[in-house]
Amino acid sequence: MNTPSHAILNVALLSQISPSAGAIAFGAILPDLPIFGFYLWAKWIARLPEKTIWGEAYYAPVMQNIVAFFHSIPIAFLGWLMSWFFGWEIGQIIALSCILHSLEDFPVHNSDAHRHFFPLSDYRFISPVSYWDPKHYGSIAAAVELSLVAMATVWLFPRVELWWVRVVLVATNGLYGWGYYRFYGRYSSGVATRSRRVKKTL
Ligand SMILES: [Zn+2]
Repeated sequence: MNTPSHAILNVALLSQISPSAGAIAFGAILPDLPIFGFYLWAKWIARLPEKTIWGEAYYAPVMQNIVAFFHSIPIAFLGWLMSWFFGWEIGQIIALSCILHSLEDFPVHNSDAHRHFFPLSDYRFISPVSYWDPKHYGSIAAAVELSLVAMATVWLFPRVELWWVRVVLVATNGLYGWGYYRFYGRYSSGVATRSRRVKKTL
């Protein structure tokens, strides 16, 4: 699932049990942060071509283990347990939001499936559905994701007090709509887009 979707959906869902929207949003994007860090490093410091970044460098064992670590349900659960033990409520919320992120990724990753039970197991659930790949119902999954985010936004909008968060919410939905049209509109008309490659891992 796309990173901003995790943030919006998790805040809408977990705000039922905690008022700490910042902690929820942080936990929602935390599992994907190493991938952004890797991309910035690969693109601007190592200056690798796009094809090498997602075709080779991303699959280096060290990178795969970092991604698996941050998408691991047992590790996030351990984080929750330790936070609970030490009475750190914010830590518990961050960990819960990380777990929810993995549960949201679980059904919509195909060739880019994460190892959600790392380090206990290297099992990857290869879902028949991909959140982006048109060969695996990507256009339907993306439409569902976009709709869920839009519904969560409608629910959140009147409850959000900070004006800039409202701007970010509206901008994200606008970008999603535009991206969907560009990506799947073009794909269905047979024009290959580079964005397919960039979108593949989050
Ligand atoms: Zn993810």
